[in-house]
Amino acid sequence: MPAAVKKVASILEELAPVSIALPGDPVGLQLGNPETEVTKILVSLDPDQAALEEAVARGAEMLVTHHPLFYQKLSSINEGSPEGALIAEAIRNKLNIYSAHTNYDITPQGVSYQLAKKLGLPVEGAEVLEVTGSDQLLKLVVFVPAGHEDKVRDGIAAAGAGQIGNYSHSTFQTDGTGTFMPGVGTDPYLGSRGQLEKVTELRLETILPVSRRHAVIEALNRVHPYEEVAFDLYPLDLDGKTIGLGLILEPDKPLPIEELVQLCRDRLNADDIRSFTAGQSSFNRIALCGGSGGSLIEQAVRRKADILISGDFRYHDLKRAESMGLALVDAGHDATERPGVDYLRQYLEKELQAGGFGTEVCLQTSEGAKWH
Ligand SMILES: [Zn+2]
Repeated sequence: MPAAVKKVASILEELAPVSIALPGDPVGLQLGNPETEVTKILVSLDPDQAALEEAVARGAEMLVTHHPLFYQKLSSINEGSPEGALIAEAIRNKLNIYSAHTNYDITPQGVSYQLAKKLGLPVEGAEVLEVTGSDQLLKLVVFVPAGHEDKVRDGIAAAGAGQIGNYSHSTFQTDGTGTFMPGVGTDPYLGSRGQLEKVTELRLETILPVSRRHAVIEALNRVHPYEEVAFDLYPLDLDGKTIGLGLILEPDKPLPIEELVQLCRDRLNADDIRSFTAGQSSFNRIALCGGSGGSLIEQAVRRKADILISGDFRYHDLKRAESMGLALVDAGHDATERPGVDYLRQYLEKELQAGGFGTEVCLQTSEGAKWH
């Protein structure tokens, strides 16, 4: 069975919740119908003419991108303008377009994490370069018939509940009596319709980050034996893990600029790489951010990074970095975001397959505009 657009959106929002996007960033379903079933999805960096033509040519009904289709509010869709023509063409071809932009930059497994992994730099446990918020915590309380508590605990722990520091499966349980009366049209696991049932149940409680909410509830419904699962979710006045833009990496040994540039060239397939050493020869506190990093120069200096790897640096960014003694590597906006785009495709494919959906996910092969 193919997945509906809304199912694809909910899978993407497990990875990159729309609630963590920067204010005003137009993320989520940009164009289309949440109820449409899609047999093929094309994943690309941009929702541009090349991506749109490829999606249509390959029979994809959905385009998933990092950069949004609409950055600003529209007052008209006039086919006399390039933007209007693109939108009209997407509508005529019934193409659904979904974008995960700053929410995918900010989420812990997002663009900068994928970039660091692709470069082979040590990313586990890395600090966030610019904190934008935290993955708020929720308390989950669920009532489980005795004997099923381990299966339920394992299921929700695998989906991300019960993680405190490096301890997994953290729960508290106490027993009591649950009551219910099965009504018309029910198919109860225990008891009979119209009769009050009293069952020994365990109250199992744990915590989870908001970003894992849908995954945990889905796992709970899957592993719990009851037809209707009784559970509560409470917001907690506790901050979870910090999230934000970019990362700070600390390799085991200082890396010379030549090695960093070579890594970008080989692993990102980036040929137009510019670097500025700020008079330093090697680097052991490396700030990194996929995309456009000029606005993070001051933050990289505040966080005592000695180099910033990103893209899109301008002449005045270079002068600011020089005045603060920060080295720069500019490996290109698109080259530093492509590992994130590749991962979006892999992630979607894996999750759709695990859900039993017959929806194919492919990566754009055509190219849009490029510098030469
Ligand atoms: Zn970008």
